[in-house]
This record gives sequence, C-alpha cells and structure tokens, in this order.
Amino acid sequence: MALVNEHFLKLPGSYLFSDIAKKVNTFKVTHPKQDIIRLGIGDVTQPLAAACIEAMYKAVDEMTRKETFRGYGPDQGYDFLIEAIIKNDYALRGIQLNNAEVFISDGAKSDTGNIGDILRHDNSVGVTDPIYPVYIDSNVMCGRAGVLEDGQWSNVMYIPCTGENHFIPQIPDKRIDILYLCYPNNPTGTTLSKQELKKWVDYALENDTLILFDAAYEAYIQDPEIPHSIYEIKGAKKCAIEFRSFSKTAGFTGIRCGYTVVPKELTGATLTGERISLNQLWNRRQSTKFNGASYITQRAAEAIYSPEGKEQIKKTISYYMGNAKIMKEGLESTGLKVYGGENAPYLWVKTPKGISSWRFFEQMLYEARVVGTPGVGFGPSGEGYIRLTAFGEHSDCVEAMKRIKTWLA
Ligand SMILES: *Cc1c(COP(=O)(O)O)cnc(C)c1O
Repeated sequence: MALVNEHFLKLPGSYLFSDIAKKVNTFKVTHPKQDIIRLGIGDVTQPLAAACIEAMYKAVDEMTRKETFRGYGPDQGYDFLIEAIIKNDYALRGIQLNNAEVFISDGAKSDTGNIGDILRHDNSVGVTDPIYPVYIDSNVMCGRAGVLEDGQWSNVMYIPCTGENHFIPQIPDKRIDILYLCYPNNPTGTTLSKQELKKWVDYALENDTLILFDAAYEAYIQDPEIPHSIYEIKGAKKCAIEFRSFSKTAGFTGIRCGYTVVPKELTGATLTGERISLNQLWNRRQSTKFNGASYITQRAAEAIYSPEGKEQIKKTISYYMGNAKIMKEGLESTGLKVYGGENAPYLWVKTPKGISSWRFFEQMLYEARVVGTPGVGFGPSGEGYIRLTAFGEHSDCVEAMKRIKTWLA
C-alpha cells in the first residue's frame, strides 16, 4: 500500500482562479450577448520580442545538424546565458557574482516552490500578506506550514501589508527562520525603498533568517531609487536567495525560463550548529531533480540581453505600464483608492464602503462587465481589495475604465 503525503489533504480544496472562472461562466450563460473584459489574469498578452524569436529559429536550425546538435546541457544552465545575466542584471548595478551562483531554470514558480527541498521541515516561515500563493502552498505540502486555523496556517507568520501601513511590512518582534519577500509585489503592485529593504536585510543578519526574495517584476520598476535586486543591499549575499523570471520581463510565460541566485557565502545550519553552503545543496538538488531548461529556450533568453532585445522588451513593458497609468488615473477619477501600478503591472484597488473583495468582484462583473481578482484570494490582509492587471490589450483597458466610470458615476 502506498501511503500518500497527507499534507496535501490540508490544502483547501477550491482554488481562487477556478472560483473566478465559475462565476464568470455563470455570468456568460445568463448574459450571452454581453462581452466581458478580463483584467484578472496574471498572464501577459503581447508576443515575444523579435530578437528572441530569431534566436530560437537559429537554435532550432542548430538542432538539425549533427555538428551543432545539443543534447543534455549543463544542469545549472549554459554559460552564455549565465554570463549575460551576471553582466546585465548584476554587474551593471555593482553586484559581482560568479557563474556557479546562478542557476537557470524553467521559471520562478518551480524554484520558489522547490527551494523548500533544501530546508528542514520544521523551520518557521514568514510571509508578507497578501502574497503569491505558491510560497505558502509549497510549505503546506511538506508539512512546514502547520495546520489551517481560521484561514491562517499555524506555523506561518503573516505580516500584514495594507493601506493603513502604506504596504510597508513591519519588522516582527520575534525571529523567523525563513522569510518570503516579493518586490515589486504581486498582488499589491507596491515596492520597497532601499531603506525599507535594508531593514529586512539587517533583521535577517541579526536573526540568522533566510530571505527568499522574488524579483519576478523587477523589469517594471520605473523609479531609479527602487532596488531591483536584494543584493544592492550590503550583507544580503549572506542572508538571501533571489528568484528571477523571464515570464513577465519578456513574455516567457509559455516559453518557460527563469533563474535563481544562491550566493556562495550563504549558509544554513544543521541541528548541531554546523554551517552548510546553500549553494552546494541547491546545486545537488537541481542536478538530481532537474535536467536543465532547453537549449532553444536559453538562446531565446540570451537574446533578451542583446541591444535589439533590450529595446524590444522595453517597448512591451512600456505598453503594459501605459495601460497601468490609464487604469490608475481612470479608477482614481471615480474616487476609488488605488495602490501600485507605478513600478509594477498590478493595481490594487480598495473596495468602496468597506464591501468585501468577492462582493465587489461580482458587482464589477455584473455592472461593468469587467473581471478582476478578489484580493482576499491572496491572503487575509487582501480582504477589501481587488487586483487588476495591466497585461491586457490597450483598447480593452480603455474600454474597461469607461465602463467602470459609468458604473460608479
Ligand atoms: C508570475 C510570477 C512568477 C513567475 O513565475 P514563472 O514560473 O517564472 O512563470 C514568480 N513570482 C511571482 C510573484 C509571479 O507573479
């Protein structure tokens, strides 16, 4: 008899996006003639940069000839991509990394979800709340989150981020072993200044906390004062792992490529207090369970860093951030309180008159025919908010704002 991992059974059965889909389908069945605009999806809509397409064609072509065919690549990724990453994403910001500190993968969801493999099951976990659900669910699956009581996991510390504290999480007065930070943030679209991020690095160094820093949206930062990498903060290499993804940066949600930085000086402890290199453990984990992102994909990712590639992805990001601007202005003109949307492709909207996330979601669906994502789906502190994404078509964003204005007028 194969016994199952019963931690999986603790996960609440129903999922945010399937609940949304059900409600949208009900609306469509009862209102077959009405069109709806989806601003709830977290997926990009614009095609890949021409430079990436070209690089992929070329890589496919190499696969057709015996002399240039590639089979298994290095587990950690090809040096051509690792070097482009180090040069462009780090060295240009004054951060030195060596090739062995960068691990290419098929995306940040896998890496943020898998990183727990190298950490003991009884570490305490902290998250800012609301948050990308992968961080918590992956801890539930290995038993690290404890049990669910009143919508919160017993071994997870929730650090609230709301309008009241301007989405700046307060440093806890007790220590945590593992802390997830995501900036620019999904779902709130807010960021942390260098000073604020430094407080967390200092906390981590003082308390021997491991920070898992998800920077999937760093390419959307417009304000030059906001840090793109946690390693811009002194001492962070001793306490942080950084996750990056080409999904939102360059429309790779379907291509699949990202990377994780595990600095050589970063260590964790054994029960007896011996310090162990996390880089070594992650390397071992990846070489056992992962066989690398495809050569074609890695060539496409490399092309993001070419002069043409940089120009092309900048254009697409500007397109989305143009949407964000229109949406922010449109929503604010109706009197709604809107956060984010300036350094991230997400708008985090306070529901009026204190109505719940789900109620506002339904009202917006039925009255304005616009779909958002109920904030409470991202954690208890998300109640009373709704998330809209700027990843849609420009004309849809304009039309959605028109509808919302008419509805709330
Ligand atoms: C979209 C997203 C990612 C990227 O995931 P991939 O697996 O690389 O597509 C990572 N973290 C957050 C918070 C995201 O929203």
